[in-house]
Amino acid sequence: RYGYQDKLLRINLSAGSISTEPLADEMVDKFIGGRGFVAKLLFDELPRGIDAYDPENLFIAATGPLSGHFLPASGKTHFGAKSPATGGYADSNMGGHFGPALKYAGYDVLVLTGRAAEPSLLVIDDDRVEIRPAAVYWGQGALTAEKNLKDDLGEDFQIMTIGPAGEKQVRYACLSHDFGRQAGRSGVGAVLGSKNIKAIAIRGTQGIPVYDIDKAYAKGVEAFKKVAEKPGFTEWTPEGTAGITNWCNEVGAFPTRNFQTSFSDHYEQINGKAILKKLKITDKGCYCCPTPCGKYGHATTKIGEAYVEGPEYETIALFGGNCELKTIEEVAYANYLCDELGIDTISAGAVISWAIECLEKGILSEQEIGRKVKFSDIETVDYLLNQIVAREGIGDLLAEGVKRAAEKVGRGSETFAIHVKGLEWTGYECRNAPSMMLAYMTADIGAHHARAWVLGHDMAGAWTNVNDLVQGGGTVERQPPAQVRKESASYVIASQHTRPLFDALGTCRLQLMELGFEVENYAELFYFITGKERTWEEMLGASERIWNLTRSISAREIDGFGRSWDYPPKRFSTEPVATGPNEGYLIPQEKLEQLLDWYYEARGWDANGIPTKETLKRLDLGDVAEVLETEGVPI
Ligand code: SF4
Repeated sequence: RYGYQDKLLRINLSAGSISTEPLADEMVDKFIGGRGFVAKLLFDELPRGIDAYDPENLFIAATGPLSGHFLPASGKTHFGAKSPATGGYADSNMGGHFGPALKYAGYDVLVLTGRAAEPSLLVIDDDRVEIRPAAVYWGQGALTAEKNLKDDLGEDFQIMTIGPAGEKQVRYACLSHDFGRQAGRSGVGAVLGSKNIKAIAIRGTQGIPVYDIDKAYAKGVEAFKKVAEKPGFTEWTPEGTAGITNWCNEVGAFPTRNFQTSFSDHYEQINGKAILKKLKITDKGCYCCPTPCGKYGHATTKIGEAYVEGPEYETIALFGGNCELKTIEEVAYANYLCDELGIDTISAGAVISWAIECLEKGILSEQEIGRKVKFSDIETVDYLLNQIVAREGIGDLLAEGVKRAAEKVGRGSETFAIHVKGLEWTGYECRNAPSMMLAYMTADIGAHHARAWVLGHDMAGAWTNVNDLVQGGGTVERQPPAQVRKESASYVIASQHTRPLFDALGTCRLQLMELGFEVENYAELFYFITGKERTWEEMLGASERIWNLTRSISAREIDGFGRSWDYPPKRFSTEPVATGPNEGYLIPQEKLEQLLDWYYEARGWDANGIPTKETLKRLDLGDVAEVLETEGVPI
């Protein structure tokens, strides 16, 4: 098989058994790789209805057919499990060098089940695979453990770790790698922690079979050249994702004070330019990336100093906007704390801002929280992060995520618990952005922007390439409020097929999304590497199949799953934006229902948002329909 190693590495940690098997033809042909492999394996192998921390939950690391090859940004790895955050389908993507190392070691996919009897480390050194005791690393920060493991095993190992948050099964614990790259979302780090695995270390030295090595190489060279020639190539890299901060604020999409409003006065102190001025030492990129968007720098604050990769836009939005930290140094320091503790910056920022608002509104007391907490206060962030990760006092509640915490606290706090399905909302406020609101509502892992980013469409009709908008000076002419229109459904669906396709192929999507690197290049690369001729449209068809499979997994795993699980928090339909360009706007519930109706209809789902039998059959998922029917899932 070309492009793949044709090998799945399976480890049962309870039994200590290690085995390999070839990839099933159906998995490769219908689900491509990465996220597609995650979805297929979860549907086929996850025992129905188990807890996310049950040893029988799967922890999957999957590469794609383009991972590890000579082409722009081919270093992405996809992780999956049953989600501790939502109870449904979970996956999370990570850059760096981990996936290529897994592939060079000879494996496309790693599947862990069971639970190790003691804190353990998994070492994959080509064909030699060992489970080793790791008590000495247990309790260490994720960055510290990576450094120590590099010292102990050798620089040529690629290391992925969890921090104390994963060990304590904080529901939004992340996976860490390459001193600042994370698979941050959905609590995949907590699943690894529940398996007693502190780290996975990989050294790979093997080649990957390629269908036409000469043409693949020539096309790779051309691809790097084409990316470098794109307008925006030189402008985009220096600030990375943080470069979008001004634009988001100026269009009133910047989450501020737990999404009470969508505009921050201090944005120039926390934007991409502030990173360049106050923090940055160097750019940092993933494997084979011509546009290194990571910013490595040093931050000094009144409570400490640290070297840190970041902050990226999402961290700026959730800590600089939502928790209102007023300087880029403080945002970067919060970023460092999260990285070392092994916790997702997005969910952490959302949970902390919710707790602060609970105190402001008298829903939680200082006594319950353990001290006074407030916005614009790095000491509040430091205190709550450490409480969460230790699961002490209020931290034990907050470690459960904002949905569960609000359900327990009640007293109206559910209104401003900002999540969908149990996953905290990322960095775009949407009360004047109906398409983006719909994208968040329907994202398969919960409120996540990377599944569909259509904010540009809401703001200016330019929904695939925000770069033009940013370069235009950040000011966009429009006539608010944005109208709720049927087209939103098709824009969201198109984006939900395009962006996640990169998660199946095993490459970064930012070269397409930010620079406009043409999709046809990927189809050509796919052909030269795998020997399979597929148009981009055919690949999008596979992406649609994967999307319907992930929805089916959640329908199977979550009792009562359906339309009500797609609703955003009540704040967005009942409380107008407090200040800024979108002051006064909200999207009433009936318009949210209308958006869902259009979306479900366009997808071929029923009125409850479940794929119909006909739709599953159309997508060559007839076997999935049969399983759902047999198990009594109403389809
Ligand atoms: Fe990694 Fe950024 Fe390059 Fe994508 S653009 S591969 S996230 S460094």
